[in-house]
Amino acid sequence: MSEAATATPTDERTPLDRLPLRAELRGKVPYGAPQLDVPVLLNVNENPYAPSDALVADVAAAVAEATRGLNRYPERDAVALREDLAAYLLRESGVALDASRVWAANGSNEVMLQLLQAFGGPGRRALGFAPTYSMYPDYCRDSHTRWVTEPRRDDFTIDVERAVGAIADQQPSVVLVASPNNPTGTALDAATVLALYEACVDACSLLVVDEAYAEFRRPGTPSALELLEGRPLLVVTRTMSKAFALAGARLGYLAADPAVVDALQLVRLPYHLSAVTQAVTRAALRHTDELQAEVAALRGARDELVAWLRARGHEVAETDANFALFGRFADRHAVWQGLLDRGVLVRETGPDGWLRVSVGTPAEMDAFRTALEEVTA
Ligand SMILES: *Cc1c(COP(=O)(O)O)cnc(C)c1O
Repeated sequence: MSEAATATPTDERTPLDRLPLRAELRGKVPYGAPQLDVPVLLNVNENPYAPSDALVADVAAAVAEATRGLNRYPERDAVALREDLAAYLLRESGVALDASRVWAANGSNEVMLQLLQAFGGPGRRALGFAPTYSMYPDYCRDSHTRWVTEPRRDDFTIDVERAVGAIADQQPSVVLVASPNNPTGTALDAATVLALYEACVDACSLLVVDEAYAEFRRPGTPSALELLEGRPLLVVTRTMSKAFALAGARLGYLAADPAVVDALQLVRLPYHLSAVTQAVTRAALRHTDELQAEVAALRGARDELVAWLRARGHEVAETDANFALFGRFADRHAVWQGLLDRGVLVRETGPDGWLRVSVGTPAEMDAFRTALEEVTA
């Protein structure tokens, strides 16, 4: 008899299936925006400008200094870094906080996971508003929290009445809302945040506003940081990955009541933030002026991109971020592929029919426009 004829179903399992893997991880694929070698990368909302020579020199010197102490564990509470982040938030949003209200970790992804480890868990729910960031369900799975969503309106804004009803019905321990939202670019106004907050107070849930793209918000769009004072259940997360052009360093942070920070210290791994990461981030923060000038240029390029797309008859979601969700295409995959064939990588994400493009340099935007005109001609 051939081997195939005698094989039992067990023999067809993959090597991973033979491990005692948690049931909810079986058959899953890891997070993976494609990392393709393409000339024009407009798919993961990075800042297209590499660090300046001055910033590189400052970071290199800071790493050299930190290296002298690498035989020791890092400063566990990263207090100096948290003070610098608080000073940055004061400059950026005009909100004064002290280090006891700021917490940092390896990317806002880790901050978010720590929030769910501390405030989610078995038997608990986290509520979000779809479409939204694709990582939220993963943090929930990894912290054994049940992820539930309410749909956004057709224009991707949040229907406040419906949201307040969902919080009351679901009684989540965490409400997670990105503003500006990924992949839509939609920012929350203050009235919406306040209405969600009141519902969260009634349900005793933490309201987490993920402001990964806050620095790109348009004039008149507020930051939820302005609402922190006197609201112990409000958490605002930020990151160095987008506006600050430091995605490779992995540094995210939050601002909240000191009690939230105390809770996260219970679940963080010991010495979670390396001395090198702390030093690199502090050095980068010394270059806030030059980075803020780049962000202003990117905001201008975003507004031009949106106007250009609309002038060509595309639908574009209102955006306060460094990307735009545009469409709608009967076959979005064909458009995505056509752009890729012309050396331009965008993201096939969001509701069917839509594509997301990040704001790049003027040359990258030219390449995108030329390619899109060819593909949709
Ligand atoms: C990119 C992004 C982040 C940032 O993640 P980091 O771990 O800080 O790099 C967080 N939230 C949203 C919605 C994002 O799009």
